Parts: sequence; C-alpha cells; structure tokens
Amino acid sequence: MSFTIAIDGPAAAGKGTVSKAVAAHFGFAHLDTGLLYRAVGALTLKGTPAIDAARALVAEDLEDPALRTPEVADAASKVAVIPEVRAALVDFQRAFARRAGGAVLDGRDIGTVICPEAEAKLFVTASAQVRAERRFKELTERGLETSLKAVLADVEERDARDRERATAPLKAAEGAVVIDTSEMDIETAVATAIAHVDAVRGGLSK
Ligand code: C5P
Repeated sequence: MSFTIAIDGPAAAGKGTVSKAVAAHFGFAHLDTGLLYRAVGALTLKGTPAIDAARALVAEDLEDPALRTPEVADAASKVAVIPEVRAALVDFQRAFARRAGGAVLDGRDIGTVICPEAEAKLFVTASAQVRAERRFKELTERGLETSLKAVLADVEERDARDRERATAPLKAAEGAVVIDTSEMDIETAVATAIAHVDAVRGGLSK
C-alpha cells in the first residue's frame, strides 16, 4: 500500500532532519527533492543548459558531494524557476511518492503540485534570522568561510525567489500542518510531525 508524506518549507527550517526522522520512524523511503534541483544547478555551472540537464538527469548526478555548497544552492533556485525544468522532474517524484511501503518527499511544492493528494502534509518553517544562524553554524562546521550577514542575505534572496516565482511557488499546501521551528528543538518538531502522521493513519484505518 502507498502512503505519501509531503514536507515543504524554506531552506534551513529543519525540513530535511524532520523528513529523515519521520521516514526512519515509519520505515518509509525518503526523497530530498532539493537534490534534483541542486543536481540540475550543478550541471548548469559546468555548462549544460538547464532544461537539457533536467531531462537527462541520472541517479549518479545526485551523488556529487558539491551539491551541498551555497553556490550550487543558488544555481538550484535559479533553475527551479524554469517551468520546463520543473516539468521534467515531475514523473520521477510522483512515481517515488506512490511506491509501495510509503514515502516521504521534502521540498517546496510537494503538497501543492507534486502530490496534492498526499495523505499527510507538513510545512516546516522558521524565521529567516534563525534559519541563517543554523545554516551559518553548519557551513562553518564544514570548514566553509562565510559570515552570518552573507548567509542571511543568501537565505533571504533564495526565499524571495522561491516564494515569488510563477510556477510552483513555495507556500503551505491546503490542509498542511505548519510546524514553526524558530523556538522549537528538533526533537519536538519530529514528535509533532509523527503525531500528525499517526493521527492521519489512525483516521484512515477507521
Ligand atoms: O531544499 P534545497 O535547499 O536543497 O533546495 C534547493 C533549491 O531547489 C531551492 O531553493 C528551490 O529553489 C529548489 N527546489 C524547488 N522545489 C523543490 C525542492 C527544491 O524549487 N521541491
């Protein structure tokens, strides 16, 4: 049986951590859909046109360690505004969502566009300041040199691009449970998400 959990939200809100924990808890497969856009963005930085890159994407493209850099994140949010790029990635995401045994997909448009029929929808968010502080800590721990000011500017620029684009803009899906992690620890965020999914599953089995 398939069961889809759609988790959307802006960068560095804790969505990835919540998604992994929820997937592990229920024994579901997990897809970080940001990786698809990052892989397309990374290929454009190497000179491939964005639409060609999206249409020819293969699994190995998702394994490049460089996908986690701020440069690739920026390139990802630029290719993500192109409707043909988004269209090329739809079928893969929908097939993943409907696999047997359950799936968690996290991204920006999972509950709104990719899987509006998902059984459970969550929107994980936090203030831009808190998200920038988290991202800054993560980048410095990885040895990347940057400043909080630069990271905040980057977060705000990427947020604006993701929220204001015409195709599949970032927003909470109808019926999504909003989890604001600005003043919430990650354990509470995960527990809130699991409780919501349990409530949906309980309702479905009645
Ligand atoms: O989640 P992550 O930060 O890896 O995503 C990188 C970029 O990919 C986002 O800023 C967004 O522009 C784009 N993206 C998207 N739709 C998704 C996932 C990511 O547009 N479902």
